[in-house]
Amino acid sequence: MPDSAFGQTHDRFSDPIVRSGSDAVNRYRPRMAVATGHEHGLYIDGESVEPASGELRDLVEPATGEPLGRAALAGEADVDRAVGAARRAVEGPWGKTPPTERSRLLHALADAIHANRKELAELEARNVGKAISSVKAEIAGAVENFRFFASVLGSVSGRSNPVGGSLFTYSLKEPVGVAAQIVPWNYPLLMAAWKLSPALAAGCAVVLKPDPQTPLSVLRIAELAGEVGFPPGAINIVSGEGPTTGAHLVRHPGVDKVAFTGSTKTGSEIMRLCSEPIKRLTLELGGKSPNLVFADANLDDAIPSSVWSIYYAAGQSCEARSRVLVEASLYDEFVSRFAAYANRIRVGDPLDPETQMGSLISTAHRDRVHGFVERGVADGAEVVAGGEPGEGKGAFYKPTVLAQVESAMEVAQEEIFGPVVTVIPFEDEKDAIRIANDVRYGLFATVWTGDPARAHRVARAIKSGMVGVNMPFTAFPGIPFGGYKQSGFGRELSIETLDLYLETKGVLVSTSPKPFNPFGL
Ligand code: NAD
Repeated sequence: MPDSAFGQTHDRFSDPIVRSGSDAVNRYRPRMAVATGHEHGLYIDGESVEPASGELRDLVEPATGEPLGRAALAGEADVDRAVGAARRAVEGPWGKTPPTERSRLLHALADAIHANRKELAELEARNVGKAISSVKAEIAGAVENFRFFASVLGSVSGRSNPVGGSLFTYSLKEPVGVAAQIVPWNYPLLMAAWKLSPALAAGCAVVLKPDPQTPLSVLRIAELAGEVGFPPGAINIVSGEGPTTGAHLVRHPGVDKVAFTGSTKTGSEIMRLCSEPIKRLTLELGGKSPNLVFADANLDDAIPSSVWSIYYAAGQSCEARSRVLVEASLYDEFVSRFAAYANRIRVGDPLDPETQMGSLISTAHRDRVHGFVERGVADGAEVVAGGEPGEGKGAFYKPTVLAQVESAMEVAQEEIFGPVVTVIPFEDEKDAIRIANDVRYGLFATVWTGDPARAHRVARAIKSGMVGVNMPFTAFPGIPFGGYKQSGFGRELSIETLDLYLETKGVLVSTSPKPFNPFGL
């Protein structure tokens, strides 16, 4: 997802994260009135608060299985309170904040995230189990994203069209109002940054629900936002269970717009909840993205990059290139070279700067991933690397390569969301495009070829929101990120994203000195 690769991370931090002597989770001091130990509240109306129910969830460090503090679980009363605070903000101080000041605040938040990057990186790595080298790149991406929307919000403007006669018309862009934003556990900080920055740039107030397993970095960002001067209610964080708290947030009559990132199944349910009240909705959903390798590609680039494209974040990325389609003439060579790289990935302690792949989010998810692999083998796939959990208490799974896969198999159709790649042979360009499009998703595709004309032909023919050619990276501020087909609708990261948080109002004015009498009465 960020622009880094194993062995070629663009380290934008001047100093390395030092593990010894620092414990971000212990240093984190929540402002709950009765906090004991490492307890984390909700963030509502500019302060950290206890949930109305007093309910807390035990957090576990997925890489070690050890406890990682306790976090508040929001219920319906907390959502009501957060939506009320957001409404007051958008109709009060936040709604009156001019664009230049919103821009300054977004830059100030970017500065604060950068200044606190060590603490945030450790918090995120421990909470998600993700390699800290990856998290560092994601934090840098989040900072850039806030800066991008701080800059482009100056482009928000209506226009005046000459319609003729005595009419003077113009359009206004107005914030949609209160935005509910729901994000998953795989990139808690980055997904929150992707969601918060355009909404706040547009002038909306936000109630954001992280996954209850991974609220820590998002809560810290909300605190930083309060410290740099965002008024109370502009940003509210209600970590809670999806089917109850999340659904209540989506249905809430005080919410004007819903932006969701998560699985296609949940996205479908949220779309249903939004249909009756006709809520504005954007959905960033799952993927089963292809990585096409033609025989004329530079394999020294294509193979290690393809390895990164699936194992980054242990395959728990929406745009993970989990289907590698390889021209049949080089299939055997490709599979053996790819598997050799997969076996060399440094899997382990997320806080070790040398680690390239951390754990999965939980042992339950690891078992789910393994179930896919077992069923794939039963369907005829061959395990060429990995294929089993890692050792120890942590939720580790070995980088896995499945060969002899056919497009119709479950492992080639369903989002496994783990470090498992399926390698599928194709005969020619037409066959490659057919297989690439043979899934219900359409998020990303990467094409490796030495023929520029073919690259453009294939990019046009693939049904996905984004296509990369001869490079593995996927997300850059300014480049629209989003899906075709069941990968959702709406775009993140780009100037178009602002429009998803704005209403357009047409104003028609008479400049005629004569009275109107349309019925001729
Ligand atoms: P999920 O759909 O289970 O959960 C996502 C979020 O929705 C969580 O906060 C969860 O609590 C909440 N939720 C669950 N049920 C809900 C309901 N009924 N009403 C309201 N909220 C509800 O997804 P996940 O397993 O946490 O995340 C992984 C999925 O996210 C994958 O499918 C991945 O591809 C997708 N994803 C997509 C993008 C993208 O940009 N397209 C980015 C990251 C992740």
